[in-house]
Amino acid sequence: MFYNDILLSVIVPCYNEDKVIRETYSRIHKVVQEHFSKYEIVFVNDGSKDDTYPILLEFARENENVVVINLSRNFGHQPAVSAGIHECRGTHAVIMDADLQDPPEVIPEMMTMLLDNNYNVVYGVREVRKGESLFKKASAYLFYRLINYLSETKLPLDTGDFRLIDRKVIDVFNRLREKQKYIRGIISWIGFSQQPFYYERDARVAGDTK
Ligand code: UDP
Ligand code: MG
Repeated sequence: MFYNDILLSVIVPCYNEDKVIRETYSRIHKVVQEHFSKYEIVFVNDGSKDDTYPILLEFARENENVVVINLSRNFGHQPAVSAGIHECRGTHAVIMDADLQDPPEVIPEMMTMLLDNNYNVVYGVREVRKGESLFKKASAYLFYRLINYLSETKLPLDTGDFRLIDRKVIDVFNRLREKQKYIRGIISWIGFSQQPFYYERDARVAGDTK
């Protein structure tokens, strides 16, 4: 499929990702240009202390569809993603990590699923967690079940922030005034029509978990 009527924003928060960011950019770039006539890749540099920022500027120089947001300091993953959602111009946006644990190659499939069924959100659900420690797997398992026990807003189990959202959801998200947004929780709370997309979660390609 090739999409002409969509402006896709791919939002990527980056903190000290200079070991992996070139590969991330090239994999995202390959997929989006094959499937979307209009796209932007929105990198949010979250106060990186390594060479991430100069490398991002290189991408922006060679590709006018690359947008770089440079935060004033390190705010953390969630505020970095919020900044990207706030600044993106797309009719649709994908949120994904910079370390390629979320495979960009499934984006077209997620888009087809969303458009064919008139969904507003298609969220990634991890079927396999490669390269993660038993502690990380067990703590993630307990975390989602505990949150669902304590909270009225049900969180889909085993989801990260990897998801495709449409403009309706982006606009509502941006109108909420919370400063510390827990993104997957807030998006779930926003409602409309949300469906899971099952995928294999890869191991981080390079660099360390933060
Ligand atoms: N990240 C960020 N700011 C931070 C920490 C992380 O923007 O303070 C980004 C990081 O570059 C990556 C994503 O958030 O794109 C997820 O981070 P990480 O892979 O370290 O988390 P994990 O997958 O281990 O939970
Ligand atoms: Mg990661």
